[in-house]
Amino acid sequence: MSSQKSRVVITGGAGFLGSHLCDRFLAEGWEVICMDNLITGDLRNIEHLSARSDFHFYHQDVTEFIHVPGKIDAVMHFASPASPVDYLELPIQTLKVGALGTHKALGLAREKNARFLLASTSECYGDPLVHPQREDYWGNVNPVGPRGVYDEAKRFAEAMTMAYHRYHKVRTRIVRIFNTYGPRMRLNDGRALPAFMSQALRGEDVTVFGDGSQTRSFCYVDDLVEGIYRLLHSDEVYPTNIGNPSEMTIEQFARRIIELTGSKSKIVHKSLPVDDPKVRQPDIAKARRILGWEPRYDLDTGLKKTLEYFRERLGVDAKQGAKA
Ligand code: UDP
Repeated sequence: MSSQKSRVVITGGAGFLGSHLCDRFLAEGWEVICMDNLITGDLRNIEHLSARSDFHFYHQDVTEFIHVPGKIDAVMHFASPASPVDYLELPIQTLKVGALGTHKALGLAREKNARFLLASTSECYGDPLVHPQREDYWGNVNPVGPRGVYDEAKRFAEAMTMAYHRYHKVRTRIVRIFNTYGPRMRLNDGRALPAFMSQALRGEDVTVFGDGSQTRSFCYVDDLVEGIYRLLHSDEVYPTNIGNPSEMTIEQFARRIIELTGSKSKIVHKSLPVDDPKVRQPDIAKARRILGWEPRYDLDTGLKKTLEYFRERLGVDAKQGAKA
């Protein structure tokens, strides 16, 4: 007997965002099929779900043919290396999952007559010449720079998603995700928050790249997941920004993290990565209008929740390191 529950496939389901989506869909009464090849995902992010009968894990590379028996109501395509350090180390996999993986995930959605939601990115805007970034801005991306593997893969993924919508009439959605943080970020993924928090908690120097005047706008993960869940259930086919518009310099962000941890760490400056965007802030007027969505968490509340996770994980890791 097939289940009467709605069923969702989440690619990259063992990753930071993917695992939070698994939690959300389960809480909404869906059956969840989580796919991940675990190159940047981590089984610890989903181990609390492993005993549930409404949760299934497929250890699968989504650039290969995807077969899932039974009905599927939604496909959420979140598989990809997603931090600058990861996609510099995994450039071919990043291109493949954005291109071939998106093709396979769309093929699955088409076969099952399921809705499809693509996790796209603010990186589509590159080093933006328009600020804040609205969805109708086409971006300023260097296709042959080191970040191009991620930016162009996601831009291709958007084009492929629109083609499946136009040609095959798949009910597609595209979210452009801006900087997001929260529990289950990988400690060593190289992004600003995990780097700064781990460094501050260990009392090491906090590494700000460049002069720290570049800006970002940080969204707490629960807010992001709420926006994505609403977008899936909307009728909006064109890309929609989801992120928190409160913008700050990276230097300010580093200082706030040092203060909150109560650390004595000092800031040291290192060279700025190639093509590092100078500014980034989402214009969320569209999400407000069509989804009635806006972020609820202020930075300090989100950072405190994230800090609890980092303290715990660093404690666990230190013990494991001692045993090894
Ligand atoms: N950054 C930094 N120190 C670090 C890691 C990142 O100063 O140890 C900077 C990075 O150069 C960028 C910003 O923080 O300007 C955000 O970087 P992240 O890797 O989190 O993501 P991005 O927004 O660049 O995709």
